[in-house]
Amino acid sequence: MSIQFVEDKHIQYVIEQESHRTFEYWLSEHLRMNGLYWGVTALITMKSLDENLNRQDVIDYILSCWDSKNGAFGSFPKHDAHILSTLSALQVLKIYDLELKMLSIQQKSSLVTFIKNLQLPNGSFQGDKFGEVDTRFVYTAISALSLLDELTPKIAQSASNFIMECFNFDGGFGLSPGAESHAAQVFVCVGTLAILDKLDLIRNETKLVNWLSERQVLPSGGFNGRPEKLPDVCYSWWVLSSLSILNKKHWVDLNKLEQFILSCQDLKEGGLSDRPDNQTDVYHTCFGITGLSLIDHKKYDFIEIDPVYCMPSEITKNFKKWKK
Ligand SMILES: [Zn+2]
Repeated sequence: MSIQFVEDKHIQYVIEQESHRTFEYWLSEHLRMNGLYWGVTALITMKSLDENLNRQDVIDYILSCWDSKNGAFGSFPKHDAHILSTLSALQVLKIYDLELKMLSIQQKSSLVTFIKNLQLPNGSFQGDKFGEVDTRFVYTAISALSLLDELTPKIAQSASNFIMECFNFDGGFGLSPGAESHAAQVFVCVGTLAILDKLDLIRNETKLVNWLSERQVLPSGGFNGRPEKLPDVCYSWWVLSSLSILNKKHWVDLNKLEQFILSCQDLKEGGLSDRPDNQTDVYHTCFGITGLSLIDHKKYDFIEIDPVYCMPSEITKNFKKWKK
């Protein structure tokens, strides 16, 4: 028997998170810009953004996180710029205005400089000037440059070379060359190659699709991030988006996955958690709902989400196609 999707409660849950009242909210301050993106994405997927969040308030908040010293966005006003908060900011601004008219020409050009300066000679990207390297930052930088329409053949070539160095013999991708395969890293690597139109670099696609399909844990039907781990709602997105990009969604049991996501709802207070009966948060709420959209957006009367950008397809279809 199928569990009901309690849409109105989820909308309320997300809005309350966004109106920053809870103590936990302040503790997770460093996630603020990402949290805003997760909330906006959950609401727009449920076709409930404009009536619940004031467009100008959201834009004003994002612009208040501009770090003029580094020329990009921090996660919170007066915080140092980081590539993660910069992508979240650009994604939300792009939802509101495809042309990003709320940013000055000067701001756009400092964003491009900020991102390009994070690339290292081996093609990888750092998250900020402190130098941590992770395939996640490669995806974030490439996606942000794509949103700004500023990709170049040189950046594309070196970034995709680095991504392929992180491909493992088991069929997955890790966060750096030789690092263990992990589903979230698979998404960022496959997503980067998709943006750069370089998916053909993956020579053993069957092995990759097998690795992704093996993430479905039975009998629950949820996906895990690595072998032997418990299923978690957020992998519904990381795994299914990767399979969608590769046109292989049918390799997993979508019905069982859907039931798992529905079983992670808080039916009383709204929101979704990583596993049934755990504490809800806006991150798992976002990726549970976008996961349901990938499974069957029409059934839930959701909008379609682009698996490459995790943004509405209605918006990404207008992005200029990158020519390698
Ligand atoms: Zn999770």
